[in-house]
Amino acid sequence: MQNYFFKHALLANGWQENIRVKISSDGLFSDISVNETLRYNDIELDCVIPAMPNCHSHVFQRTMAGLTEFKTSESDSFWSWRELMYQYANQIDADQLYHVARYCYAEMLEAGYTSICEFHYIHRDLNHSNNTENMSMAIINAANDIGIDLTLLPVLYTQAHIDGSPLSGLQQRFKLSVPEYIQLYQSLQQKLHEGQNIGICFHSLRAVSIEQIKIVLNELDTGQPIHIHIAEQTAEVNQIQQHLGKRPVELLFKHVDVAANWCLIHATHLNKSEIKLITRSKAIAGLCPMTEANLGDGIFPLTEFNQQSGRLAIGSDSHILINPFQELQMLEYSQRLNDQKRIIASSADSPNVGTFLWNSAIKGGAQACQLPIDGIQVGQKANWLSINTDTTLLTNLKGKQILDTMIFASNQIPVETYRFGQKQASMTKNIVENYKNTLKSLR
Ligand SMILES: [Zn+2]
Repeated sequence: MQNYFFKHALLANGWQENIRVKISSDGLFSDISVNETLRYNDIELDCVIPAMPNCHSHVFQRTMAGLTEFKTSESDSFWSWRELMYQYANQIDADQLYHVARYCYAEMLEAGYTSICEFHYIHRDLNHSNNTENMSMAIINAANDIGIDLTLLPVLYTQAHIDGSPLSGLQQRFKLSVPEYIQLYQSLQQKLHEGQNIGICFHSLRAVSIEQIKIVLNELDTGQPIHIHIAEQTAEVNQIQQHLGKRPVELLFKHVDVAANWCLIHATHLNKSEIKLITRSKAIAGLCPMTEANLGDGIFPLTEFNQQSGRLAIGSDSHILINPFQELQMLEYSQRLNDQKRIIASSADSPNVGTFLWNSAIKGGAQACQLPIDGIQVGQKANWLSINTDTTLLTNLKGKQILDTMIFASNQIPVETYRFGQKQASMTKNIVENYKNTLKSLR
């Protein structure tokens, strides 16, 4: 059992100094005490923050990051991007997905994420055989081999539009009937590696009907994580309202008992009553600020959401960038640009934006993953980031200033990632070479 001494660390109740932590043999924090002195054999680290959970990933999209930044029509949008994305979704096989996931998850560990919710919808093999597990197994094995915590979210995706129209040719790999979905979920539950988690997932209210959601919940809901894309695009909000008479958040809450185990991904377009519904339910708003900016989704109403003590998590989604610091920067900057104000995400207890946002996203991310990753607390996994304070930019700064500087002013991510109390060195030559070879065959 190794003991550590942190000179500054961000705990759940804010920044503390001179912290001694003990790690149990199973890699959890077993004791944390503040205002301590360094003892013989302690490993000393200068500045430590909790490692970030990543609440939303479509890992295959990392292969197309940067390759959709060109004009295809006068009205390029999320919907034209989606057509390009489908081309990538339709050429990747299970072996390639494994190599992409290994590389991308290793990138995440280097950037400061130690857990991932994989929102996985490419179920069918390239040859459209009846096997729907191979692609999920690629994710399960890649996460285990790299050493990142996984909450696998197999996705139900049954229709092309809210009107129930059938999936298009390019969407056939996503297709599962409700009985097939339930069977796949139950089978994958048996195939997880130790410590991995699984949750229920509905693609969106345009891709799954309320009736189908009810059947799945009836069969499978035991309080595990439940994720859904909820209100990413105004066009989808309008379509759902036209067809079913309610906006997506209102519709979901009308028909389903949405509680703290729900994570509403891209809860971007909310009216006042929808903000109230979400915050009262204690469900998570799963925000992916860099992807939402890249896709032109819209701006999340953070001020009002925070005023009602809403819970949020962050995800890297399309992986246009893999950097939790920049995700939080974008979240704050989008508000400043919209409101023409500064310092949006803060509270009386936590006036510094970096501290406020980092701790909010840790708490919300742990809830969205349902894993013991809720920061530096006894009983949680000993996952953290040690910040290299020798970096010129961080000279002579302390805790809250360091984190603000990392989020708003750093061109690099000068961190070392620890998982189960051990320093991670995940990226290897073999992972890089296999990824490069995969890119050569996909591009
Ligand atoms: Zn998504």
